[in-house]
Amino acid sequence: MKRILITGGAGFLGSHLCERFVGEGHEVLCMDNLLTGDLANIESLLHTKNFHFIHQDVTEFIHVSGRLDVIMHFASPASPIDYLELPIQTLKVGSLGTHKVLGLAKAKGARLLIASTSECYGDPLVHPQSEDYWGNVNPVGPRGVYDEAKRFAEAMTMAYHRFHQVETRIVRIFNTYGPRMRLNDGRALPAFMSQALRGQDVTVFGDGSQTRSFCYVDDLVEGIVRLLWSDESLPVNIGNPSEITIKEFAERVIELTGSNSRLVYADLPEDDPKVRQPDITKARELLGWEPQVDLASGLARTLSFFQERVGTA
Ligand code: UDP
Repeated sequence: MKRILITGGAGFLGSHLCERFVGEGHEVLCMDNLLTGDLANIESLLHTKNFHFIHQDVTEFIHVSGRLDVIMHFASPASPIDYLELPIQTLKVGSLGTHKVLGLAKAKGARLLIASTSECYGDPLVHPQSEDYWGNVNPVGPRGVYDEAKRFAEAMTMAYHRFHQVETRIVRIFNTYGPRMRLNDGRALPAFMSQALRGQDVTVFGDGSQTRSFCYVDDLVEGIVRLLWSDESLPVNIGNPSEITIKEFAERVIELTGSNSRLVYADLPEDDPKVRQPDITKARELLGWEPQVDLASGLARTLSFFQERVGTA
């Protein structure tokens, strides 16, 4: 059994990873400064013997006593509203935080997997996006704080791998949804579901013709775990290639909730990518992985969480 540190462990993806590893019998150290994370996400784990919560900002020196086999670096604000409200923290956790976990991995001889992002491809000029596309990123736009921090994180991770022989893995995560997303994080799914459940207008940005490809969280976690135990140190896309316009996505959510909500249109945020779809050939060939949960069943599994949070359950 491994001893695993998960930064951002009280966040959306981090908490699902904690649950997975605790369930497999590993010892999990969950580190979070609770800036965008929430103890409610790990409530069911807090009294488990092989789970420990450490309240810490990972941009500060990290001390972990004893052995450490694996580090999963998932700490970061991760929605467009967060980047606007927490730009410096976003830059710091992707740069200084990644440096801290790399130093810790080197000192402990631990394997490190970092959470990178499809934002590395920016507003892509190549479609779908495969790992060898270098991207079209505006470094000084509002999303630049996230995109460039993650691009720096990838570069720093490869440097520690090449120069210090640290065992590293890089996952480029595409849009993911599921239980434990923050209701007010401004992302499409929490916004649409909570608006629809409350019978409010559903706000589509732009004309809704921009596309995304949404992956259910359990599929994502499975892909990440497979990548962790693989030998691949270069980036691997994990996401669901099934692409949909945002307008159609909003309509699917309204239909599922049975709401009478109408679509209303608002300004498209600056640098909002026009298209996004992962090319997952590499994950298929290398990890034997592909998503199993389609949008209809993923949305149905997510609905009860939002009904409870919104208070309509
Ligand atoms: N979006 C929208 N209404 C909302 C929130 C988001 O139309 O209330 C759009 C947003 O402009 C983007 C898409 O939905 O085109 C996905 O947005 P999200 O913030 O979920 O992820 P990202 O832009 O990072 O892919």
